[in-house]
Amino acid sequence: MRKCSIQNLDAVFSKIAEEAKLYIPQDSEKGTDYKEWTEGAVLSNALNTNRSPKDFFFPQTENLMEFKTSGKEIEIIDNRDEMEDFVVFGVRACDVKSFEILDRVFLVEPYDSYYANRREHGVIISMACTRPVETCFCQTFDIDAANPEGDIVCHKTENDIFFNAVTEKGNALMAKLEGVTEDADSSEVDAQIEKTHEIMKKLPLANLTADKFGADKTNEFFDAPEWKELSQSCLGCGTCTFVCPTCQCYDIKDYNTGHGVIRFRCWDSCMYSDFTKMAHGNSRNSQLERFRQRFMHKLVYYPTNNDGLFSCVGCGRCLAKCPISMNIVKVMKTLGGKDNE
Ligand code: SF4
Ligand code: SF4
Repeated sequence: MRKCSIQNLDAVFSKIAEEAKLYIPQDSEKGTDYKEWTEGAVLSNALNTNRSPKDFFFPQTENLMEFKTSGKEIEIIDNRDEMEDFVVFGVRACDVKSFEILDRVFLVEPYDSYYANRREHGVIISMACTRPVETCFCQTFDIDAANPEGDIVCHKTENDIFFNAVTEKGNALMAKLEGVTEDADSSEVDAQIEKTHEIMKKLPLANLTADKFGADKTNEFFDAPEWKELSQSCLGCGTCTFVCPTCQCYDIKDYNTGHGVIRFRCWDSCMYSDFTKMAHGNSRNSQLERFRQRFMHKLVYYPTNNDGLFSCVGCGRCLAKCPISMNIVKVMKTLGGKDNE
């Protein structure tokens, strides 16, 4: 394990930025978001960013290819730009776990090479939480906020940041930081982890469980009468899907520039009325069906196809951002029975 004082963190950032583009959470009047580090940028103390770090691997919009026509000839132009090395610093345990959920979608057949390239070129430096808040419920999904995964795992104490490289990529980067970090033992980190665990035990959602949900429970929940009331006020705005680190639906469209065609993909939302709309119309005609789809996917369909793994990481973003205060916790409490209240 290595450490540096918080005061000297800029030297570490500067060293990383010599190797690759570095992104850190930074505050602005709009809240906290990942931005590229430049000299003088200040690391945010916020627990969570507005947008999750999923954007680094699966951006909201990206050009896939271009077509240029000349008479009867069609030229296909590969305009990929996802081959650049980059480092994302300060990723929380919940968001790190979301990458595994996305990997199980994008890195199986049909293999998504755009996503795969970014995963290959990105290094994740995670940051253990010290002050989880009332919207956090990562422990419901067996995620430990005080012990994140990542290529390099960081812990922050009052005066220092501790670094623990755990993967090959992490070790390679850590070796380059030797001059700006020093050897450390784990006693301060262990004490910090214990403190965070104490806070987690007292969180309002500490006892929320997902035990009632999971693989092969479609028949149990699909026709539940509760969906009607739960979905009644949903605006279909899609905010919950856009802030969610694990939502992965997208659309692919062609745009005619007048000189050719650009094929791009952009995020889509199962909450939208035109989602999966085809010539015959939409396969989910009511907001109840669309709303049910989102939560059944996270709590039942995804686990059914992925060895029981849920596709929610308890980051709490949808709790904070939904304009009508509807969210997955309310769904779990309503459908999960009295024990989950
Ligand atoms: S649940 Fe909330 S955030 Fe999601 S689509 Fe409905 S109103 Fe929008
Ligand atoms: S459903 Fe909500 S709490 Fe769960 S991962 Fe998505 S945004 Fe976070």
